[in-house]
Amino acid sequence: MNLVLMGLPGAGKGTQAERIVEKYNIPHISTGDMFRAAMKEETELGLKAKSFMDQGQLVPDEVTIGIVRERLQKEDCNEGFLLDGFPRTVPQAEALEQLLGELGRSIDFVINVNVDQSILMERLTGRRICKDCGSTYHLVFNPPAKDGVCDKCGGELYQRADDNEETVGNRLEVNVKQSKPLLDFYESKGYLRNIDGQQAIDKVFADIKELLGGRA
Ligand SMILES: [Zn+2]
Repeated sequence: MNLVLMGLPGAGKGTQAERIVEKYNIPHISTGDMFRAAMKEETELGLKAKSFMDQGQLVPDEVTIGIVRERLQKEDCNEGFLLDGFPRTVPQAEALEQLLGELGRSIDFVINVNVDQSILMERLTGRRICKDCGSTYHLVFNPPAKDGVCDKCGGELYQRADDNEETVGNRLEVNVKQSKPLLDFYESKGYLRNIDGQQAIDKVFADIKELLGGRA
């Protein structure tokens, strides 16, 4: 079961990733974890990646692809894998196609957890934090009893600058622009499956299981 997981920030991709890897017993391969492991093991590619990062530069695709290649050849990937955060661009997706071809494998599905941008805005801008005790709330998912006031200590609630509409909106726009060509690429390959991420978490996972059911 060779899977790629996609979804905008706030779509609930992380939660679904946890459930997929637990249910199907495949490794969750996120870009960050993969880089950290390669650096810790001090593989040649890991050291190369580190030298770029230390200089504040983007790691070139050839290095990233090399690290993906090493990771996918590890024994725990024999039954499949869940890639998360990679590929990020069409050239990376093309390189992944080639790499998997060389390994005699192919992607089964690209699962896109799909949520309207307006709902993502609501999810991502709703966090409020208590100035006095640091307790966190969410206007939709975990609202305080009284608007703007901490239930625990009566302190004033505030919104972090990172959570304001403008910052979150910009972040979403960047992600939409970046993922659109990738979604189109996978659509054209016939791998793309859109899952409705606006449902309850359990229902989202039920839909993913239904998609993967025949392959378990
Ligand atoms: Zn408080």
